[in-house]
Amino acid sequence: MSEPLAPQYNPSTIESELYRWWTEQGLFAPESHAPGSGEPYVIQMPPPNVTAVLHMGHGLNNTVQDVLIRFERMRGRRALWVPGTDHAGIATQNVVERLLAGEGLTRFDLGRDAFVERVWAHVRETGAVILEQLKAIGSSADWSRTYFTLDEGLSRAVRETFVQLYEKGLVYRGHYIINWCPRCLTALSNEEVDKEEVNGQIWHLRYPLADGSGHITIATTRPETLLGDTAVAVHPDDERYRQLVGRELLLPVAGRKIPVVADAAVDPEFGSGAVKVTPAHDPLDFEIGQRHRLPTIDVMTPEARISLAAPERFQGLDRYEARRQVLAELESAGLVERAEEHRHAVGHCYRCATVIEPRLSDQWFVRMEPLARPALAAYRDGTLRFVPERRGEDYTSWLEGIRDWCISRQLWWGHRIPVWYCDADGCGMTSVSRTDLTACPGCGGPARQDDDVLDTWFSSWLVPFSSLGWPEQTRDLATYYPGHTLVSSPDILFFWVARMIMSGLHFMGKVPYTRIYLHGVVRDTQHRKMSKSLGNGIDPLEVVERYGADALRYSLISGMSVGTDVILDPRDLESTFAPARNFANKLWNAGRFILSNLEGPTRPLAGSRTAVVRGEELTLADRWIIARCDAAVVEATEAYERFRLNEAAAAVYRFIWSDLADWYIEQVKPRLYGDQQGGDVARAVVAQTFDVALRLLHPVMPFITEALWRRFPGRPDTASISVAPWPRHDRRAQDPAALRDFGLVQELIGAIRGIRAEYGVQPGQVVRAVVSASEGHMSAVLERERATITRLAKLSAVAFSPNHERVGGHAVLSDRTSVFVPLGEAIDIGKECGRLGIETERLLRLVESQEKKLGNEQFVSRAPSDVVDRERQKLTSWKEQRDVLVKKRELLGCG
Ligand SMILES: [Zn+2]
Ligand SMILES: [Zn+2]
Repeated sequence: MSEPLAPQYNPSTIESELYRWWTEQGLFAPESHAPGSGEPYVIQMPPPNVTAVLHMGHGLNNTVQDVLIRFERMRGRRALWVPGTDHAGIATQNVVERLLAGEGLTRFDLGRDAFVERVWAHVRETGAVILEQLKAIGSSADWSRTYFTLDEGLSRAVRETFVQLYEKGLVYRGHYIINWCPRCLTALSNEEVDKEEVNGQIWHLRYPLADGSGHITIATTRPETLLGDTAVAVHPDDERYRQLVGRELLLPVAGRKIPVVADAAVDPEFGSGAVKVTPAHDPLDFEIGQRHRLPTIDVMTPEARISLAAPERFQGLDRYEARRQVLAELESAGLVERAEEHRHAVGHCYRCATVIEPRLSDQWFVRMEPLARPALAAYRDGTLRFVPERRGEDYTSWLEGIRDWCISRQLWWGHRIPVWYCDADGCGMTSVSRTDLTACPGCGGPARQDDDVLDTWFSSWLVPFSSLGWPEQTRDLATYYPGHTLVSSPDILFFWVARMIMSGLHFMGKVPYTRIYLHGVVRDTQHRKMSKSLGNGIDPLEVVERYGADALRYSLISGMSVGTDVILDPRDLESTFAPARNFANKLWNAGRFILSNLEGPTRPLAGSRTAVVRGEELTLADRWIIARCDAAVVEATEAYERFRLNEAAAAVYRFIWSDLADWYIEQVKPRLYGDQQGGDVARAVVAQTFDVALRLLHPVMPFITEALWRRFPGRPDTASISVAPWPRHDRRAQDPAALRDFGLVQELIGAIRGIRAEYGVQPGQVVRAVVSASEGHMSAVLERERATITRLAKLSAVAFSPNHERVGGHAVLSDRTSVFVPLGEAIDIGKECGRLGIETERLLRLVESQEKKLGNEQFVSRAPSDVVDRERQKLTSWKEQRDVLVKKRELLGCG
């Protein structure tokens, strides 16, 4: 780090080296930088799937977390960001099953134990690639605490919670309709089903009365389930069907007799008011079936083929082939009344997109209502706050309508359910146990463990405490639970965020965090979510390679605001990420200039030491930049605190790019070069304000700020900006007079630069300026800053006089100070007069014809009023332009 800064900013050479240095120093562990002091501040990283590869969604989510954790770390908190990976039951099992398919094998060929061993081998071999990728974008998680949800400790936590919930009657086994994926061959929770609107059809079918005296029409979108119908239901108050209740229908195709039942759950307004009842294939029908003791006929196999319970000619057919055949038979029997186009929501497996089949089976469930109640109360009493606030409504309505959570999965990869069954005659005991059982505790007979594993989310809903050692009462648990902020994308609000609140309240008695920041989604310029299947993604690592991690982070942060999505253009990386890299370049060049002009440690600007810079040593520009710097501290700090990260980034950007680099550094150059007195004061001011700027920017752009900050003269080798104290607001730095006075100097220079540009004065050409200040004080201010104005506006001379020549380019400042720039020496006045003359002529003609048009009674009275208004506005604007040009020609002395 002692070698000089490279002349060119090259992120790839500094980033990986700095990251290694940070981890060697142990800077991301909360113990290392604030031993025993400071309140803890904890963020739990949403654990990525162990086989995942970093995409922009991870990039955004983890950048936000890193910004917050770095900010709080610098504020002296014991900041802990806990990383981990998720074993991701279905997703990981699918990956390995695909690999096996390539070898012509299925998991059943291998058998359970060999298959699970194969998945472990795959996970060990590929490792958690994504964790290395998170390091490449600068994530300062405490890697020494990395967990995997199948680790021994976390597995113990899963078992402990299952047993505790079972003992309290909050976990139960039930025979219900669940969501079934016929491809993954497992049950899914309601949250794991993606509802998608599709164009389908609805068929209105006639079910004849068994005695041939008529029929009832029912409507269905899944005619194949007719094979499992065991009743038709109507509302008890529905006059149309009152006499039919209790009579029998002859179920077409299947040729069975089924009753007509009355049930209040039927909506008489829907369709014909009569519905078919298939208790084995629909959750509502299942409930109707329970109430009327109807038989259940399961007509589908796990693969969604027609089962042996259906007539032989349908057996083995795929569900959609069966649909076609059922319809064909109904059609030929004249029982299809009509078919209509129908747009409706269809559930798809969130892992493989196969259409879900509702299926009756034995599964394990968590009783959610008792867990949801305290979670709802924590939001209502203000313990939990959402950013943006409106997300609290989603949370509330989900909890209010919560259903029991199906947690058993018919998979092999995951935490096996800790339940053992005794098959001994006359015993049949079910045992739920914290330890593995080999024998039945009741009769000593053989015990058989439940075949299923638990939903992956059943382990990840515990991580706020299981990652810290629970159920052991560890020091980590005592220190870092509860945490503080959770940063997530909204799509796992129910899967994960809300469930963690329930488990935290239930097992730890406290919410796991109090602030929930739900950021937007990364989308392309057509507002489509970036995804592999659409091919519209951006690889964050490619961006890191081409533009640097700092540029990636800056682009993501500056492109987001609370509650909105981040739009990036996958087809044009250059225009998407180059602005952030240009900012880094600007910072690098400013840093190189400043550091090369610091001869050693600078004098402090505040404090009690004798070497401190005294107020009267400061120039107007010094006072101005110190005040601007303090304003940036206030603005950025408040924005970071309020999760307005883009505003924090913008405040620091403006301070560095405009105030510091474009104005202050340009202003103090002569003093820094040592040909004027006060050089050491200028160095002290530039060193301090630049140091503050780097610290304010560090959370967003950690690498470049560290690279520059470490090179300040006199810094110890071990010093890191990542644990440097956060800049404090200093009341004494406030200086409204300096802001106003130097502001006027800037405005004057800007006005002269504007005139130069307007008249095409060559950059190397000097001009004169004549300034008449609005009042005495301003005149004195501007005269004192004569050297700055002359140099930065490229003037040969500047005169301050109210009664001077009033020719040339002209501008009036906001305080009514006026400036003239005689242009005779700089441009060809004759040519400029000619150009302005042609332009004036053109405008005169436009004004004339427009006045004629608007003088025409017929046009004005007949045209729509907005058209007339528009034409009037045009006239006004052209007149104004004409007047400006006439005035300009007058000022230039054109004949
Ligand atoms: Zn699936
Ligand atoms: Zn037994």
